[in-house]
Amino acid sequence: MNKIVIASNNVGKLNEIAAILGPLDIEIVAQSTLGVPEAEEPHATFVENALAKARQASRYSELPALADDSGICVDALAGAPGVHSARFADAVAGGRDAQDERNNRKLLELLAAEQNRKAHYYCVIVLVRSAFDPQPIICDAEWHGEIVREPRGSGGFGYDPLFLVPELGKTGAELAPAHKNRISHRAQALAALAARLRLAQPQSRR
Ligand code: IMP
Repeated sequence: MNKIVIASNNVGKLNEIAAILGPLDIEIVAQSTLGVPEAEEPHATFVENALAKARQASRYSELPALADDSGICVDALAGAPGVHSARFADAVAGGRDAQDERNNRKLLELLAAEQNRKAHYYCVIVLVRSAFDPQPIICDAEWHGEIVREPRGSGGFGYDPLFLVPELGKTGAELAPAHKNRISHRAQALAALAARLRLAQPQSRR
């Protein structure tokens, strides 16, 4: 496997994935450059959504394909917003920042009277060698923290201003980007994938 299509158009994610897979001598191609349309994400679990995206990218491109899906799960809300993290609040005009702000406001409102603030980010990465691969490689990871009562910090995206990493005393939005990219759910899942791929490579290429 020396070329993989990435089922995402998010430049940040593409860069993170390129950094991890580069040393393995695997060329990555964004699905947009091959005209792969964005897949629906209708499923109730992260892994099913990631699998649907990876299979579609592989079907269109006839290449191995990698997809991820992620979100935040809050204990006191029985795991919500979960797979609905991106559109937790009603969709609004104004792009991602406006949507993120409304999502965060909704989360704070729902937790206003709640003492249990525990939450975790979750990320799953799926790699299929072909559209009908019966044995996809699946790597996942969790990043645990707590939901603060007021947004803090200006970095990151999404729920980062609300997500406190207790052992660091900082929210995701207060962490330097390079620091977040070393410890996040996505970084951990990608590291697990790199380890799996390294094992699958012939000894001479490791
Ligand atoms: P996706 O997997 O990129 O579609 O992410 C789904 C949603 O989960 C995002 O729109 C964010 O709301 C949330 N999310 C996932 N990862 C992060 C993160 O690292 N920081 C903040 N929010 C995140």
